[in-house]
Amino acid sequence: MTTPMMLQYQEIKAQAPEAILFFRLGDFYEMFGEDAELAAPILEIALTARDAGEGQKIPMCGVPFHAVEHYLTKLVNAGYKVAICEQVQDPRLAKGIVKREIVRIITPGTLTDSSQPEKSNVFLTAVFRDTEWGLAFLDLSTGDFSIFQTPHWETVVSEIERVHPAEIVLPPNLYQRNKFWTKYYCTVRQITGKNSGLLERFPAQAGLLLELPAGAKAAENLWTYIQENIPGLDPSHILEIQNYRQDQWMILDPWSRRNLELTESLRGFGKKGTLLSVLDLTKTAMGGRLLRRWIEQPLLVHSEIERRLNAVEEFTNDSLIRTDLFKLLSGVYDLERLIARVSFGNANAKDLLALAQTLAVLPQINELAQTSQAKLFKVLSQSLQGLDRLAHTLREALIEDPPVSLKEGNLIKAGYSQEVDELRTLASGAKEWIARLESVERERTGIRSLKVGYNKVFGYFLEVTHANQHLVPSDYIRKQTLANAERYITPALKEYEQKVLGAQDRLIQVEYELFLKLREEVRAHTAEILTAAHALAEIDVFLSLAEVAVRYHYIRPEMGEGYELKIREGRHPVVEQMLGAGEFVPNDTHINSQNHLALITGPNMAGKSTYMRQVALIVLMAHIGSFVPARQALIPLVDRIFTRVGASDDLASGQSTFMVEMQEVAHILRHATVKSLVILDEIGRGTATFDGLSIAWAAVEYLNENLPAKVLFATHYHELTQLEEKLEGIFNLHVAVKEQGEEIVFLHKILPGRADRSYGIQVARIAGLPESLLRKAKALLLEFEDSQPHLNQEPRKVTQFSLFNEPVLHPLLQEIAALEVDDMTPRQALAYLFDVRERLHSLQTL
Ligand code: ATP
Repeated sequence: MTTPMMLQYQEIKAQAPEAILFFRLGDFYEMFGEDAELAAPILEIALTARDAGEGQKIPMCGVPFHAVEHYLTKLVNAGYKVAICEQVQDPRLAKGIVKREIVRIITPGTLTDSSQPEKSNVFLTAVFRDTEWGLAFLDLSTGDFSIFQTPHWETVVSEIERVHPAEIVLPPNLYQRNKFWTKYYCTVRQITGKNSGLLERFPAQAGLLLELPAGAKAAENLWTYIQENIPGLDPSHILEIQNYRQDQWMILDPWSRRNLELTESLRGFGKKGTLLSVLDLTKTAMGGRLLRRWIEQPLLVHSEIERRLNAVEEFTNDSLIRTDLFKLLSGVYDLERLIARVSFGNANAKDLLALAQTLAVLPQINELAQTSQAKLFKVLSQSLQGLDRLAHTLREALIEDPPVSLKEGNLIKAGYSQEVDELRTLASGAKEWIARLESVERERTGIRSLKVGYNKVFGYFLEVTHANQHLVPSDYIRKQTLANAERYITPALKEYEQKVLGAQDRLIQVEYELFLKLREEVRAHTAEILTAAHALAEIDVFLSLAEVAVRYHYIRPEMGEGYELKIREGRHPVVEQMLGAGEFVPNDTHINSQNHLALITGPNMAGKSTYMRQVALIVLMAHIGSFVPARQALIPLVDRIFTRVGASDDLASGQSTFMVEMQEVAHILRHATVKSLVILDEIGRGTATFDGLSIAWAAVEYLNENLPAKVLFATHYHELTQLEEKLEGIFNLHVAVKEQGEEIVFLHKILPGRADRSYGIQVARIAGLPESLLRKAKALLLEFEDSQPHLNQEPRKVTQFSLFNEPVLHPLLQEIAALEVDDMTPRQALAYLFDVRERLHSLQTL
């Protein structure tokens, strides 16, 4: 027959079949059967076996309860859900098997342990759709909760890609409809229709929830999911549901976000080489998270941008304040996550102490603000007040270096509680008596080897070797026989043992209760602590942006109301950091309504991409309220930045380079407005030359005629540069190079006008291609240039988009078609035929 405990296990396991069950047995969480086989290699722990009754063995592995967070993180990161099953009854009171229940199911979006990345949010997202899309985002570890609604699928994609949720909860019909979701950890579940209790929990948000029904529905699903996973959870640190309106922020599609390397590098090196890595000198995790969010969501509200720029400027003007503030912020812990742990009821004494230490810094920051000229700093620091008493209480109450566990005592400082002090005296007095007992009894009995010992089963005892048994006095009571000794107790020893153990048990209990009271007191201050946390985060970000501005010589951009964009001596914030001091060549940019589409030509490696990205980044930085790397900058409000840079296959979704490229271009042409900035780097390169050229040509015309957005268009199709003369609004720029014999030197200087040549072969030489290959390439180039003189002219009969429909003939065929055969002598015709054959041969050897 299966053992009663295994029966209990099976019953509980059936309640969470999709999760790995952590079954609490004493000081361990045990896993059994398939769960154990699955988890042991991931957790790198030994797989053993346990008796399951009827002589059967079942695979088993386990982890100690005090280190559970580490193991949970490993399993969740490996893509598994974990159900935590606790003993919910005091084992001493249990008749038979201790009662156990699943208290929590942990998934990537509901993991709230301390191993989460400090400087980024971990969002659980729910998605809903009826007439519009509704999204809800919640970071349980900080309490950030927001909803959002949109009619556009592409906005959904852009938001999901921005937030990069750890887990997405969505109904099966949505999941099945699009492959996009498979990129994320998804929990697919039917919408239950049960009342989630959301409205009751956030009554102040009733209006918002009514206004955005799809967003509200997503939030309800999310809330239900949380309630199911963490029954009884009342996350007091989630103060409100926020709505963010898309029109407050610049829209950045996922491609542009990636291409500009805002917070993730294209080569997958994490933060290195990104804009975030340059701007992030924040000292606190809260500041780090906020800066990341600002970079990912540039503002569109002029007044708010100016508010931020003012704050940064104020800090740039005061280096002393910056130094002092940096020092103070270094002592600030992650208040948002600490208060979240308080809210979940898993904050320990170390957490409260960290909180107390942070709260103790607040008055100092406040004091500093009073001496500062920085107005916004003064305003923000008002939110840091009112927590002194709490800080004081915690510091008075908690021991300097408390243990992680709350059930071992040693939490409360001497002098805080009379009861704790008394119990400690009692316990230590009794302990001292026992400690003296060994020498007293040795003296009394004459047994020199007599020892006092302790174990969990028998408590304190006196141990006498067999050889000395004849000396044992009559008041000793035998308790246990070992191989070479006997263990005894005496009535007096038992009496003191009672005192020690009784006092210690009681002490642990009293300390625990006092701790819970302190935690409740902290919980009662959740709103003030979070307000302080948000103010600290802002101060930290302003300070970081100011320090960056001073360190790297950035200037305050002027935010213009009009169309004009003017940057004098702009630099690329990331590339300039990678080069040595003074090596980056600054460049100007001037776009206005007469000259709004720049065609940029120049050799490979000359710096075209760098230049275009630099303009995009400067514009973006201004919109987050940062100073910019330039000597002077007039930046208009830009609703979207589009970048189509370089070729990339999206193999995961089965799309070719050219397909991806065309989709991105189509997306830009569909969504750009007159207020957008569009960066196009070599479009049309992923297909045959003539198709590519035609597409690029037509795209330039389309952009010019249909939406006078600000466009920077880099190309190797020199033919396009003729458009400057033909169409209003288009102007040429080129990147200067200097020729030195066979070699070229990159000057990285952007100048007006077109480039005369591509210098592809010279660049190939720099890259180290064999000399013989380069010679051949050069000969071929001369031949091609000779045979295709029209390539440097405007394509005949170009009307907008007509090239998409008309088949483009091979240049040789076009040449033949254009021959005036009647005017040729037979000899000329024969020579031409030989020439054609020769050219065809050289094309084949290419
Ligand atoms: P391709 O046409 O092959 O894409 P490109 O013209 O776009 O080339 P970039 O990739 O922008 O060239 O630049 C190549 C390298 O030149 C950069 O990695 C950088 O090291 C250097 N560079 C670019 N611009 C500058 C500059 N303004 N000052 C100094 N170095 C620069």
